[in-house]
Amino acid sequence: MSLDIPLRAMSDGKSIPSLGIGTYLVPPNDAARVVAIALQVGYRHIDTAALYGNEREVGMAIAESGIPRDELFVTTKLWNSEHEPDKARVGINASLERLGLDHVDLYLIHWPAPRVYGDSYIAAWDEMQEFKREGLATSIGVSNFNVEHLDNLNGETPVVNQVELHPSFSQVPLRDEMARRGILIESWAPLDRGADLTDETIAQIAEATERTPAQVIIRWHLQHGFVVIPKSINRPRIEENSKVFDFELTPAQMQAIDGLNRDNRQGADPATADF
Ligand code: NDP
Repeated sequence: MSLDIPLRAMSDGKSIPSLGIGTYLVPPNDAARVVAIALQVGYRHIDTAALYGNEREVGMAIAESGIPRDELFVTTKLWNSEHEPDKARVGINASLERLGLDHVDLYLIHWPAPRVYGDSYIAAWDEMQEFKREGLATSIGVSNFNVEHLDNLNGETPVVNQVELHPSFSQVPLRDEMARRGILIESWAPLDRGADLTDETIAQIAEATERTPAQVIIRWHLQHGFVVIPKSINRPRIEENSKVFDFELTPAQMQAIDGLNRDNRQGADPATADF
């Protein structure tokens, strides 16, 4: 079964399913089960990374699903220590080998990491464009990039910027700038790793819409035009998080959630991350 998940257009002419399954902190010994469930439920977009240590198991689940490759959208990411062009090439080839794929649909620079690796992300972006020309990655983008990091890149504009974004950290200035540049936002930690689910406003909207808090928050991302990749290792939650295309939040409900921003980051600040 596949869900009828709407696609979002990317600036390179390709498209990306607006909902995917996240796999950060899904341990290798569980990742094949989790991805298999997501594919059974109807997800067709999987977000992984070399860092997550589960690409091999993600690839096993893909292979065992029997779903045609062109119906799937697989994202993986280049780790910070592999920005140098020769290391980046080793990095993408190792990811493809572990995934059992000859290309990924989207390859991202995971972090700019200027504190530790200087401006090496600039050369990494040059090499990413080469990977695209060679067909190793259909589309290329970045993750955790601030505007200044984007300004330093040469050549193509990244199609997406995957950043931390959830109601209590809603990144309005960065969103506005990405919209201006035609860069799609992908929200990581879209549920604030669970923390935003207990917010009183979210609870009230969930009650009014007869949906769960997670569905309300995922819907808020979708109605803002973001690509959203919630992670769960539990089948009922993976199913719940996918049932978000048959209802709509009102403008007032969207505004109420917009009002929850507290600039409350879960993860590292891209400018100062020390890894
Ligand atoms: P999420 O905001 O997706 O939250 C995941 C947490 O929420 C888990 O503890 C999960 O629990 C819980 N959860 C999920 N669904 C529900 C539900 N319906 N009801 C109650 N609790 C729920 O955080 P992530 O950090 O995982 O972000 C999502 C994805 O974004 C990652 O998995 C990864 O793919 C990507 N990411 C990218 C980063 C980057 O630097 N580019 C950084 C971090 C994440 P349980 O699993 O036990 O169900």
